[in-house]
Amino acid sequence: MSRSGEDLDIVLNIPPEGIRLKIDGIEADFQLKPVADSPCRVGCPAGVNVKAYVGLIARGNFDRALAVVRERNPLPGICGRVCTHPCEAECRRNEIDEPVAIRQLKRFIADYALSSGPAVLPAETPQRRERVAVVGAGPAGLTVASDLRRLGYQVTIFEAQNRPGGMLVWGIPPFRLPRNVIEEEINSILNLGIELVLNTRIDNPGQLLDEGFAAVFFAPGHQQSIRLGLPFEDELEGIVDSLNFLKRAYEGEVRSLKGRVLVIGGGDSAIDSARVAKRLGADEVTIVYRRTRAEMPAAEEEIAEAEREGVRFEFLVQPVGLIHRERRLTGLRCVRCELGEPDASGRRRPVPVPGSEFIIDADWVITALGQKPAQPVSGFPDRVFIGGDAAGGPATVINAIASGHEGARQIDALLSGRKVAVTASRVPELELAPAVLTAVRLSRSQARILPVHSRRGFEEIEAPFTPEQAMQEASRCLRCGPCSECVLCSYNCPKHQLLLQLEDMSKPVIMRVHGLEGMFFTDTEPRGIKVEFSRQGTVVGGLVQPLVAHTDPYLCRACGRCLEVCPHQALKTVKWQSGIEITQVDYQRCRGCGTCVTVCPSGALQLRTEIAPADNG
Ligand SMILES: Cc1cc2nc3c(=O)[nH]c(=O)nc-3n(C[C@H](O)[C@H](O)[C@H](O)COP(=O)(O)OP(=O)(O)OC[C@H]3O[C@@H](n4cnc5c(N)ncnc54)[C@H](O)[C@@H]3O)c2cc1C
Ligand code: SF4
Ligand code: SF4
Repeated sequence: MSRSGEDLDIVLNIPPEGIRLKIDGIEADFQLKPVADSPCRVGCPAGVNVKAYVGLIARGNFDRALAVVRERNPLPGICGRVCTHPCEAECRRNEIDEPVAIRQLKRFIADYALSSGPAVLPAETPQRRERVAVVGAGPAGLTVASDLRRLGYQVTIFEAQNRPGGMLVWGIPPFRLPRNVIEEEINSILNLGIELVLNTRIDNPGQLLDEGFAAVFFAPGHQQSIRLGLPFEDELEGIVDSLNFLKRAYEGEVRSLKGRVLVIGGGDSAIDSARVAKRLGADEVTIVYRRTRAEMPAAEEEIAEAEREGVRFEFLVQPVGLIHRERRLTGLRCVRCELGEPDASGRRRPVPVPGSEFIIDADWVITALGQKPAQPVSGFPDRVFIGGDAAGGPATVINAIASGHEGARQIDALLSGRKVAVTASRVPELELAPAVLTAVRLSRSQARILPVHSRRGFEEIEAPFTPEQAMQEASRCLRCGPCSECVLCSYNCPKHQLLLQLEDMSKPVIMRVHGLEGMFFTDTEPRGIKVEFSRQGTVVGGLVQPLVAHTDPYLCRACGRCLEVCPHQALKTVKWQSGIEITQVDYQRCRGCGTCVTVCPSGALQLRTEIAPADNG
């Protein structure tokens, strides 16, 4: 349930179907409903305020946009390249044309930031004595470390490998995620003052509590490949699991691969292994998957790129035996399958077709059936928290980041005794939503992709947006959701923001009214429009008033900062009592966006509805 929905239940008792509104006696073609959070933010596991940073990019404010992303995502350049972007699936633009290219926009500002320096710990960060240990330097461990360091804790990360990054380094190929991007973003986190101990495997995280750490976050990921379970799998030359294969390829231990390669599986590891095998020179690469393309867990765009690079697919095929000669693999015995009833994963179960056995010749088989934990991940003392893939099964980078945030929240709550609010409270907000979404169709910007014939080695294939492309793409955003959730209002006057005070309501609520700008210029006294709500059979009257800025002349020093930022030229400097200069608001121009309020150093500006007498001075 949305936060505003919860708040409104208390204030207005709104039934789920909404309440109809009459404006000046005429029933409007709208329904008044609680404003839900923007779908993109709801869709992001880490709760990144997408609408805010997309809006800032549209206005060319890239620094500020990056700061908004970094509030919830310490690895923007990495996610800007490999995030599975569940936010785009939720984007409201899907109802009109195509989703806003949120992932590429994130990449754009992250690349912009690489040239503008690393994140820094604010000078006012408190210093806490407690030491917290993090096991595993994958995205989950890095996120929890970054959050806890920003809260002032002393953080040490223990990593089994000779390099931090986890599957970012050992799983995802450099042509999708260049290593300098990983290095720079991890260094930016470590620069906050986090200790990293490499080549140190911790199998019993409880032991770290005995060594003086106040809490442990255990995020070892899933480092062990799932086996095919066929005879001779561990004995034959020519069969390798995907994690092993990818690691050896990235380390330069395997530089070329000749002949026919079969990759078994349908997830990220299978697609990446196939594309790496192609780059190592394999003559023919075929992915063997027991369901159909529609059920493949790998991202659609990666499947399409693999196809473009010449990877072939054998769907509805299941391996049942390994063919070999003199301890060397020569082929795969398979059966054809049909799709049956859905299994526990919700996908339709592959059912072997009797008598359909056949053989595919192969020089190499790469098994990519998924990963599992390499050690036990439960049964630890209370102060050990489990996170990332290890907590819920192989997932995604953004899920690992979300789990890192949650781990930091829980560890901080344990060590500080602070009760951390899950959701921030804010002014409840209503929206007079038009029944149908009527927005102009605008085509989605496309980043430049390296043509297949130019793809060499592990060079990155996707180019970033240019600043012009990014601003154009960002301006496709519809700014769904409530005004009061983000910093956008400080930059972009939401012309339709009004304050609604019902006669029987103790608190006002913010309301946006689409297509009724005229209300701002009404001459009725006091300014505003009378409204009637029919609620549970009773008519309740109310007044819709514009929200405007007010200057307290006793506090104002006429410094002029508000004049510089007001997007509507609604402020001017005037002489007040005894000739003192103050800033005054022109109510006909002011749109109540609040920008001036945020920059006023003396607290002289406030947003209100009624015209304060002192203001007229
Ligand atoms: C081939 C491949 C491609 C992928 N592609 C994508 C993609 O495009 N998009 C996406 O969102 N996700 C992708 N994923 C999934 C994503 O990488 C993982 O979900 C994510 O990295 C999990 O993060 P984590 O921090 O939980 O674990 P990991 O990234 O696995 O990190 C765990 C770390 O802990 C260390 N460790 C393990 N055991 C110990 C121990 N006992 N002591 C000390 N250290 C230890 C490991 O060395 C590792 O560095 C892909 C995964 C693979 C394998
Ligand atoms: S249109 Fe903008 S605010 Fe609405 S869901 Fe898409 S990105 Fe989010
Ligand atoms: S006066 Fe202040 S609140 Fe009014 S439009 Fe200008 S910046 Fe926004």
